[in-house]
Amino acid sequence: MEKFLNDGGEDALAVRCRDFDRNYALVLERLERAAEKAGRPASDVTLLAATKTVPAPVINHALAAGVTHIGENRVQEYLSKYEALRLDGVGRHFIGHLQTNKVKLIVDKVDMIESVDSVRLAAAIGEECKKLDKTMDILVEVNIGEEENKSGVAPAVLEETVRQIAQIEGVSIRGIMAIPPICDGPDQIRHYFKQMRELFIDIGAKKIDNSHMVYLSMGMSGDFDTAVEEGANLVRVGAALFGKRL
Ligand SMILES: *Cc1c(COP(=O)(O)O)cnc(C)c1O
Repeated sequence: MEKFLNDGGEDALAVRCRDFDRNYALVLERLERAAEKAGRPASDVTLLAATKTVPAPVINHALAAGVTHIGENRVQEYLSKYEALRLDGVGRHFIGHLQTNKVKLIVDKVDMIESVDSVRLAAAIGEECKKLDKTMDILVEVNIGEEENKSGVAPAVLEETVRQIAQIEGVSIRGIMAIPPICDGPDQIRHYFKQMRELFIDIGAKKIDNSHMVYLSMGMSGDFDTAVEEGANLVRVGAALFGKRL
């Protein structure tokens, strides 16, 4: 365990790291069981730690413990923690709603943007990446529940959106992502995961140039087991690893 020198914060951080160790083992077990149920090796599934509100020392502890991918939601929060994070060899994903005017602040600090919900945003990312001679891996976010106040592309226009984004230089489509509606139980949410899997397979089969349907990102703390059973190969887990956000 690392020593934390923050005044007064030492005990709280140490406790959070201990909690993480216990939670991480449980999450890995759940992942293992779900993958087994789905007849896939657990190594096919990337576990991304959703690190919003988690202090940098706790994230670093998680990385030292074996976490290989992190996802942040807010540009300002990510920038404020960035220098303190030990991110060598770590997959850095952006998973929150991204405004086009903030794109330039993070393109050099992330490896994938999972939350691309418009052609316009993809174009802004492409433009900034071209300046850096970089191609950004992106996922297209799908509003699978067709909820009014949620970001994401409606399923009905996903293919057309993918076709348009695929023509943009500086971005490379690697799959799709969704945050399904809050559901009452596993059966309801399973239905959304199944729909996502169908979209993923259908669009992948169209073999659109410059789009590679590799990642199906779905499943969070309460439902990632179900998501993996239904084909997710990238799950984004926050509270089940780091404890409830206050
Ligand atoms: C916070 C967040 C997660 C993780 O949610 P938990 O319920 O804490 O596991 C996953 N995806 C996105 C986009 C998030 O914002």
